[in-house]
Amino acid sequence: MNEHRKTGVLTESQLKEMTPELKGKIAIVECVEDIPCDPCVTACPSDALVKDSLVGRPQLIVEKCGGCGACIAECPGLAVFVVDFDYSQDKALVMLPYEFIPLPEKGERVDLLDREGTPCGKGEIERVRVHKNKTAVLSVLVPRDLAMKVRNVRRIQ
Ligand code: SF4
Ligand code: SF4
Repeated sequence: MNEHRKTGVLTESQLKEMTPELKGKIAIVECVEDIPCDPCVTACPSDALVKDSLVGRPQLIVEKCGGCGACIAECPGLAVFVVDFDYSQDKALVMLPYEFIPLPEKGERVDLLDREGTPCGKGEIERVRVHKNKTAVLSVLVPRDLAMKVRNVRRIQ
């Protein structure tokens, strides 16, 4: 059994396995189920995502990924993110799929949530883009040390 099924979140070792070197702007594909699915692969304009078979897990070819984010909104499992680890001296940029309404706005302060939905800090919305399938992609400024922790946001009421 995949380890994460016990808790619903990825384990440290799963994360380590799927995480490229933490630098630059790059896709983080947190897909651990062997399912017949590949919209992320077909969405990538750079052929940076590949699968051995339809049910295999997608692999990222790091050198080919420019961090464009085209794969994020295409993933039905909301399992793809892009992180710019070097956005600024103290901030990273996390691009994440978001399917709640109302959408936050550029400049809005938000609660940052980890994979379990637990608040872990405050961030700022840098950009909101709504994809043609209605999934929004938020670009969120977060403290650099939270770049691999933040995977969702919550609007502050
Ligand atoms: S971020 Fe862009 S280049 Fe990288 S895997 Fe996704 S679609 Fe491809
Ligand atoms: S689209 Fe999402 S769920 Fe499907 S293979 Fe790609 S990362 Fe996994």
